Amino acid sequence: MIATKEKIWLSSPHMSGDEEHYIKEAFRTNWIAPLGPNVNGFEHAIANFYNHSVKPAVLSSGTASIHLAFKVLGVGRGDLVLCQSMTFAASANPITYLGANPIFIDSERETWNACPELLERAILDAMDKGRKPKAIMAVHLYGMPYNVAAIASISQKYGIPVIEDSAEALGSTYLGIPCGSLADIGILSFNGNKIITTSGGGALLSKSQAVRDQVVFLATQARDEAPHYEHSQIGYNYRMSNVLAGIGIAQMDVLPERVEARRRNFEYYKCQLSDLPGLEFLSEPEGMKSNRWLTTLLFRSFEEREKVRLALLEENIESRPLWKPMHLQKVFRNELKYENGISEDLFSRGLCLPSGSDLRDVDLMRIVDLIKKNLER
Ligand SMILES: *Cc1c(COP(=O)(O)O)cnc(C)c1O
Repeated sequence: MIATKEKIWLSSPHMSGDEEHYIKEAFRTNWIAPLGPNVNGFEHAIANFYNHSVKPAVLSSGTASIHLAFKVLGVGRGDLVLCQSMTFAASANPITYLGANPIFIDSERETWNACPELLERAILDAMDKGRKPKAIMAVHLYGMPYNVAAIASISQKYGIPVIEDSAEALGSTYLGIPCGSLADIGILSFNGNKIITTSGGGALLSKSQAVRDQVVFLATQARDEAPHYEHSQIGYNYRMSNVLAGIGIAQMDVLPERVEARRRNFEYYKCQLSDLPGLEFLSEPEGMKSNRWLTTLLFRSFEEREKVRLALLEENIESRPLWKPMHLQKVFRNELKYENGISEDLFSRGLCLPSGSDLRDVDLMRIVDLIKKNLER
């Protein structure tokens, strides 16, 4: 019998041990609802992390948060929304929930995020046709900040608000400012694979208390002030559970440690592997700090990437190609796109390595040895 090799996951939930205290408290006090002391406590912990520069609303998922972000920016039927192409589908899907259409923007080499030049060209073309886009969706992919200065300046020049998808970038900074608080609206995710987790959940961050309150109103079925159920707007059931928010409070306490652990993983991989021929790691441009949510690297070719991915899989080690750009997805084949070939190239040659904050040295050594063995031959 062949013993199965111990599984190494791409990015596992990593509990601190204090989560159960808050969950038990929710049960003891019977706050088993999408409101209660843990929901307030989690929002308070997030606000503290951002030095109270943003007002958080915790919601049922990052996707729900993105949906409501577009909603409060007034995106509706027939509108155009500029969206980074190299991302997870959840950045783009909510555009279609609202009956709007995405225009996909390819990547720049420096950060792998939206290319400011293509973004501006797309805006100018749309305005030429008398259709000014309603919003810009920019993403800090794998924790690496996008080019905030360039995109903020385009946003100001044309008066188009930015949504900052910070689902992968909690704990990253741009010029020392935490990601999630750099644009008009920021989005976080607490899904099971993210840097901290509530098993499922998200947050919308706004600088305006009024916007934050409007988001909570919409997320709780848009009930007007009345003893009965009175509605003058369409609402959603998107608020976070008080049970899950308890997990979030305890996870916020260990966020700095989780960022350090993920950055250490990256440094280890880079140190061990960067001598191998043709391997490339994405370094931090001046002024940017990535939480290194996932360590990513580029091989010389698709074939080399696949060879390593399959060798890892054989040893029960999970790795994954980079996000497949949205402009190459069948579901979005009819949408407008501004291409330069960069995201397609990244998708074909790139791989995400196991990056959990709970990886042990022996796990990292096992992974590195296997990659070396497969590239040296
Ligand atoms: C995870 C993720 C989301 C969606 O968050 P959920 O909480 O899973 O709905 C959105 N955008 C990006 C870039 C993500 O990685």
